[in-house]
Amino acid sequence: MVGGMADGERMRLETRAVHAGRAVDAATGAVTLPIHLSTTFERDPDGSFPHGYSYARSGNPNRTALETCLAQLEGGAAAAAFASGSAATAAIFQALAPGDHVIAPLDAYFGTIRLLQEVFAPWGLATTFVDMTDTAQIDAALRPATKLIWSETPSNPLLKITDLARVAQIARTAGVLLAVDNTWCSPVAQRPFELGADLVMHSTTKYLNGNSDVLGGAVIAREAGGLMERVQMIQSTGGAVASPFDCWLVLRGVRSLPARLRAQTDSAMQVATFLEGHPNVEAVHYPGLESHPGHAIARRQMRLFGGMLSVQVRGGEREAMAMAGRLRLFTRATSLGGAESLIEHRASIEGPDTRSPANLLRISIGLEHPDDLIDDLAAALM
Ligand SMILES: *Cc1c(COP(=O)(O)O)cnc(C)c1O
Repeated sequence: MVGGMADGERMRLETRAVHAGRAVDAATGAVTLPIHLSTTFERDPDGSFPHGYSYARSGNPNRTALETCLAQLEGGAAAAAFASGSAATAAIFQALAPGDHVIAPLDAYFGTIRLLQEVFAPWGLATTFVDMTDTAQIDAALRPATKLIWSETPSNPLLKITDLARVAQIARTAGVLLAVDNTWCSPVAQRPFELGADLVMHSTTKYLNGNSDVLGGAVIAREAGGLMERVQMIQSTGGAVASPFDCWLVLRGVRSLPARLRAQTDSAMQVATFLEGHPNVEAVHYPGLESHPGHAIARRQMRLFGGMLSVQVRGGEREAMAMAGRLRLFTRATSLGGAESLIEHRASIEGPDTRSPANLLRISIGLEHPDDLIDDLAAALM
């Protein structure tokens, strides 16, 4: 078992992805961790729990394995796995108190904005939404009650790049925490703790699982204790925990994460370059392109530019929808990070409050051969 952080830190990411949190099963010799469905665990005659588990809401061997692995992958001290990315996000805000204030990006994940506006504003948590690519707006939004800056980069769906080291510096100076939604990057493409973040949130539904068949989330903390202790209390008390089977599936998915993300990044770069040169394309948003306004920061803070991009098609919403309708390899569906390439018209899924341009299509590059993806796009763009 590659358990201790000292071991984990010495190994490279690919090796951690395969080994962290895993051990050969002591009882059976099974190479793959068994799925433990038991909801309850036996006490010793003296009342203690000899294996450290008492009841499945508080902890389970599959969840421990996944949390150990995710903490080591991000380079954090502790992780808490949830039933969805949104449950993980909610746990961070719940760990704050009514009367506190949060600064979040105007173009944060749509569900995060909804949580802040529909659930946490009535609860007493105030939020100021700013354009985080303009850090002066963060400075201006700080109040004595500010406890947390929430950041997400690249943004959805325009892939704007926020300078995380700069935001971390603002947070540190102001004495507030920085939480980063690292879902679009995974620890392979971007390492928020190395840039000064305190908390990382993931929708493991996306790249970490990588197979479009688990809904899950996680919070990872650079240091144990503090707000993370409250997140862990909310996890076990509130009970929005990841199931043993879901933990097992995400742990399986993580093994191939570094290899998947490298392949997806290579293909995304090729697709973005093709689209940028196409006469029926108005704009391509991909941080790997030199034309991208955040390219210089992305080069500095991202290890890989990732598998997500968006494209604005000439001819407005009608032509964008028609183009998506002509594709054969790309599935028209929301979500991202799976083996199959997906395309989505963001404005229609987000509804009337959307900030997405009407002619914008968001693309998640899968593991197909990039030439096949480009052929499909070329035929659909006509
Ligand atoms: C999908 C996603 C979420 C929400 O995660 P769920 O697992 O769907 O609840 C949060 N942030 C980002 C960036 C996402 O892509």
